[in-house]
Amino acid sequence: MLQLPIPVTEFAPRLLGWYRDNKRDLPWRNDPDPYRVWVSEIMLQQTQVKTVVPYFEKFLRSYPTVEDLARAEESEILSSWSGLGYYRRARNLHRAAQMVCERYGGEFPRDFSQALKLPGIGHYTAGAILSLAHGEPLPILDSNITRFFTRYLKIEDDLERTIVGKLRKFLVQLVSETSVAKNVRDFNQALMEIGSLVCKPRNPQCASCPLAASCLANRAGLQKTLPRPRTRPSVQEFHHTVALIAKGEKYLLTQNWEETFLRGFWEFPRVQGQPTPHLAETFLKTHGLDLKIRKRAAIVTHRITFRKLNFHPVLASLQSPAPRQRFTWTRPGEKGYPVSSYIKKILRSLKSR
Ligand code: SF4
Repeated sequence: MLQLPIPVTEFAPRLLGWYRDNKRDLPWRNDPDPYRVWVSEIMLQQTQVKTVVPYFEKFLRSYPTVEDLARAEESEILSSWSGLGYYRRARNLHRAAQMVCERYGGEFPRDFSQALKLPGIGHYTAGAILSLAHGEPLPILDSNITRFFTRYLKIEDDLERTIVGKLRKFLVQLVSETSVAKNVRDFNQALMEIGSLVCKPRNPQCASCPLAASCLANRAGLQKTLPRPRTRPSVQEFHHTVALIAKGEKYLLTQNWEETFLRGFWEFPRVQGQPTPHLAETFLKTHGLDLKIRKRAAIVTHRITFRKLNFHPVLASLQSPAPRQRFTWTRPGEKGYPVSSYIKKILRSLKSR
């Protein structure tokens, strides 16, 4: 059973005092409206605060209310999201906005189990939205908070599920304490903030930590050793050949409905594998495109989570018209035709030659 090394009545005021003096001025903190907190929490999954801030502000200008987001076309939303990556977040946010409008009259549900039924909302995000926007005494267990408590409580096991489960139980108990529950909005943000600004992943700033005197890892000299690294999934490498077929400033693009990781995006016609001497036949079989392959361009690599994608661009021209129903001529990124950032990388690489 995990326990604080000092009474909660001492821990909470120290943490909250530090937060009041050191918190960053972030746009979603000025107005804890559930929709704003929700959008920020989804953007912050897998993405750093400094990257999220300009996207958040732009997104809120495009979709100021949950109703605006629910009514928007998915392709527009993907375009607004372009560059943030992990596009499943944007699709889930869109579907969840539609459900919130249809089922709850545009109000994010206050009930934890109802919130969990929305696409893209797991325990962490539901806890964050309900505690930060509505002041519900629910815990948040993001990577910053996990790291902070792993050190503060000196948890030496590696971060397997059982430890995360124990930490979650500990936090449920902690936020139900009266001195925390009445300030849960600030308490949860203070934990995230201290994890992000002080108890940093590689270089914890123990000298400026308000809880250093009671931190068990600090006392034991383990602050840089914990948390023990988790074994990461190995990176998988893939090769794709893409055909760049230009007409003026426009390119022939097709919409991907096949694969989950780029689904819904417009892409250059693409086949799996590196270029072979039979490339023209492969494009004909896969896409029905009758191509003349003219020249190869430099390889462009792109990481999507654990996948390393190697794109081999070839410049090509059409020998006969492309099948109309599956292709379009457009400038990549034009409104209504969202493209992944790998397309932009390829075009930038071509221009720089
Ligand atoms: S003393 Fe150091 S290791 Fe402990 S919580 Fe503070 S920053 Fe983290």
